[in-house]
Amino acid sequence: MTFTLPTDIDARPVAVLGAGTLGRRIALMFATRGGQVRVYDPSAEAGKQACAYVEEHGAEVASRVGGAPGSVVSTTDLAEALAGAWLVVEAVPERLELKKQVFADLDRLADADAILASNSSSYPTSQFVDHVTRPERVVNMHFYMPPAQAAVDLMSSGHTDRAVLDLLLEVLPRYGVFPFEARRESTGFIFNRIWAAIKREALAVVADGVSTPEDVDRMWMINTGLKGGPFRMMDQVGLDVVLDIENHYAAENPGLPTGPRELLKGYVDAGHLGVKTGRGFYDYGTRD
Ligand code: NAD
Repeated sequence: MTFTLPTDIDARPVAVLGAGTLGRRIALMFATRGGQVRVYDPSAEAGKQACAYVEEHGAEVASRVGGAPGSVVSTTDLAEALAGAWLVVEAVPERLELKKQVFADLDRLADADAILASNSSSYPTSQFVDHVTRPERVVNMHFYMPPAQAAVDLMSSGHTDRAVLDLLLEVLPRYGVFPFEARRESTGFIFNRIWAAIKREALAVVADGVSTPEDVDRMWMINTGLKGGPFRMMDQVGLDVVLDIENHYAAENPGLPTGPRELLKGYVDAGHLGVKTGRGFYDYGTRD
C-alpha cells in the first residue's frame, strides 16, 4: 500500500505526545511558524508546564528561525490533540510496551494522512509497528536538546514511504531544526553513537587509572574550545541514565569493554548520580 502524503501542512496543527523534557522542546520548535501545536499528556500539570515553556521561549526562538510565534494548547484527550494534525511526534517515557500501545492508538485515531514519528532515543520504530496497519507513515524523528542542540536524526521504520523521509528532510529546516537521515537501522542513530564512543573512551581512560575526570574535562575543553567536558556532561544527564544507555549498547555489542560500565556502576551503587543527587564525578553540594 502506498501512503498519501499530508497536504496543506502550514494550515494544520502538529501534535506532540508527552509534555516532558523533550516534548515541550519539540512543541517549542513546531510553534515557530505561526501554526498551532497541541500537546497531549495524561498529566494536565505537565501539559500546562509545557505550554508555559513554549510561551516563555516562543517569540525568541521564532525570531531566530525567521518565523512567527505560533499557539500552543495542551489537552488530556488524545483524539482532540490528533484531530487534523499532519504530523504527530511521540515523546512519551522510554518503555517499549508503552510505545507499542501508543502507536497502535495513533494508527487508529490520527488522520489517515498524518505522519507518525517517534522521538525514542533507543528504540527503532521497527519495534513498534506490529499493530500498525500503515507502517509506511511511521518514522524515527529523534531530537537532541532543542533549541540549543538542533540536529535531528531521521530513520526509516523499515517500511517508511520514501516520500515521508523526503518531505521531512525538506520541511524540518523551516522550524529551525536540521534533519540528517540514518541510511540504515542504527541503535543510537548517528550523533548519539559518536557521543557514546567519546563517553566510553573517556570512562575507560579513568577506569584504567590513566587520568582523572577533572583532567580529561580540562584537556577536552582546551583542545576543542567547548565549555564542558564529557564527565561534567555525564553528571548533568545522570550517571544512572548514562549506565542504562551503555548497557543497551553492550547488549547489542557484547565485545564492548566492561571498564566504563564498572566505573559507572560504582558511582550509581553509591547513590552518586550526578547533579540530581548533588554528587557524581564532581561534588555539587548535598541535595536533600
Ligand atoms: P519525560 O519523563 O521528561 O516526559 C515524559 C512525559 O510523557 C511525561 O510528562 C508523562 O506524563 C508523559 N506520558 C506518560 N504516558 C504518556 C502517554 N501514554 N501519552 C502521552 N504522554 C505520556 O521523558 P523525556 O526525557 O522527555 O523522554 C521522552 C522520550 O524522548 C523518550 O522516548 C526518550 O528516549 C526521548 N528522548 C529523551 C531525551 C532526553 O535527553 N531526555 C533526548 C532525546 C530523546
